[in-house]
Amino acid sequence: FDPNNPEAMAIKEKINAHPCYSEGAHQHYARIHVAVAPACNIQCNYCNRKYDCSNESRPGVTSAKLSAEDAVKKVLYVGGEIQQLSVVGIAGPGDALANPEKTFDTFRMLQEKAPDLKLCLSTNGLKIADYIDEIEKYNIDHVTVTINTVDATGEIGSQIYPWVHWNHKKVWGAEGAKILLEKQLEGIKLLTQRGILVKANSVLIPGVNDKDLPNVAKKLKEMNVFLHNIMPLLSSPEFGTKFGLDGVPSATDQETMAAQEACGMDMKLMSHCRQCRADAVGLIGEDRGDEFTPDAFVDMS
Ligand code: SF4
Ligand code: SF4
Repeated sequence: FDPNNPEAMAIKEKINAHPCYSEGAHQHYARIHVAVAPACNIQCNYCNRKYDCSNESRPGVTSAKLSAEDAVKKVLYVGGEIQQLSVVGIAGPGDALANPEKTFDTFRMLQEKAPDLKLCLSTNGLKIADYIDEIEKYNIDHVTVTINTVDATGEIGSQIYPWVHWNHKKVWGAEGAKILLEKQLEGIKLLTQRGILVKANSVLIPGVNDKDLPNVAKKLKEMNVFLHNIMPLLSSPEFGTKFGLDGVPSATDQETMAAQEACGMDMKLMSHCRQCRADAVGLIGEDRGDEFTPDAFVDMS
């Protein structure tokens, strides 16, 4: 980071204590996810609603859903227990922006009660444009968008997303996928224009979007996205995911490395992601979510 470049220094300040955006920070700073967002406005074939959103989390692990008030209590309690806590994220179990009231109530209260914590959200991108003013108002300066394809025909997207909920109805197949892509690109542009740091997640689905991921990386670079995280599909019938049931195997280490190499030509890649769960607590890779059950914090005033 060039100390004479104010823009670069502003970014440095934002990522310094953020364990997901800065590899250097991930051993020293902790994050907490609060699971306040149960609903979703799209269907991904790799998702099972019984589990957490794959925007940010490892499928197969359920998280207790919290009210906004209990989420704030939990953050304050955990902040007392884990001194390195620096970031609060909303990453599911559904989509943060498909639950705008609970998401922004939580952020509003956190801004008042814990102004030193950085706020972060994760979304499929469909509703960013609708809530861009709120995102800015509550100083949410890190947003993760899951974007799995930039295929403008909607063909690849239709294999990943059976439907998208738009204008009060389900839009199926390629038409739905095209709406999602358009809104993702519009949303990412708005975020970066307002100086909000964007990380993109892409789920690598072998045989479906592997060839398109380098195009995703190119597009992200064009739009000044800060970091790209390629997450291998974790496919298993016991999760009930469509890909798992249909026998699309998990991405192998080799496939993941090949995709990362292809995307790394254009984008700075996140290499320390551990596909953490929607109620993750602690340092990345050292999950303490199970220690903080509601009995530990709901009676606090
Ligand atoms: Fe599931 Fe997340 Fe996809 Fe919604 S955006 S369908 S919660 S994986
Ligand atoms: Fe990190 Fe994502 Fe959680 Fe934010 S929402 S703290 S980027 S894992």
